[in-house]
Amino acid sequence: MFKAILFDLDNTLLDFWSFKQKAARAAAKAMVRKGLPEKESKVYKRIFEVYDEYGVEYQKTFYQVIHPYKLEVGQAERIQQAAIVAYLKSKFNSLRPYSGVTSTLRKLKKKTQIGIVTDAPRNKAWMRLVLSRLDGLFETVVTTDDTMLKKPHRAPFESALRKLKVDAKDALFVGDNNDRDMLGAKNLGMKVCLAKYGEKFSRTKKVKLDYEIKNFKELLDIIK
Ligand SMILES: [Mg+2]
Repeated sequence: MFKAILFDLDNTLLDFWSFKQKAARAAAKAMVRKGLPEKESKVYKRIFEVYDEYGVEYQKTFYQVIHPYKLEVGQAERIQQAAIVAYLKSKFNSLRPYSGVTSTLRKLKKKTQIGIVTDAPRNKAWMRLVLSRLDGLFETVVTTDDTMLKKPHRAPFESALRKLKVDAKDALFVGDNNDRDMLGAKNLGMKVCLAKYGEKFSRTKKVKLDYEIKNFKELLDIIK
């Protein structure tokens, strides 16, 4: 039995990818409606190009999208704020855990300690936890602000294990990203479980996975 189970947040507990797509679609629609002289589909595509270039936590995405059109300052600001409002509205409505996550976490919590190790900034991670109503469940939540280092670096994993007073060998890490979650946790000696349902990035590093799940509820069988 594991003394702790640590989870990645985005695309492991939360359906982050569907939320990003819905929110980006809403933002693109709002920008065009407010007068951005472009096709909605092109704006949507451009939003993801900016994410690819600067990362999904980038805070000036819409500015980057609007900037090349050289609009008058007030009009550019209007379009940008419309995009932000549409994005946030969509975010509040669409950021949800994957099916079965909440009930499974409650069951796991009765048997072991649970925690989060995420590369998201502290404020973003907690907003996502509050929106998805998972905020009261975890014994520890380690974010990028805690160690200033990202997975697969050992520091964020070690920080969580230290807080829970658990050795790496007695802990399981569950995440969707092979090269960050699985590699980092495995290097430290943790057991690793790939959340295949959330996997979006190709695996470039060879990691010997201990478990793979296609549905979050399968974790209950793993810890039996
Ligand atoms: Mg993830």
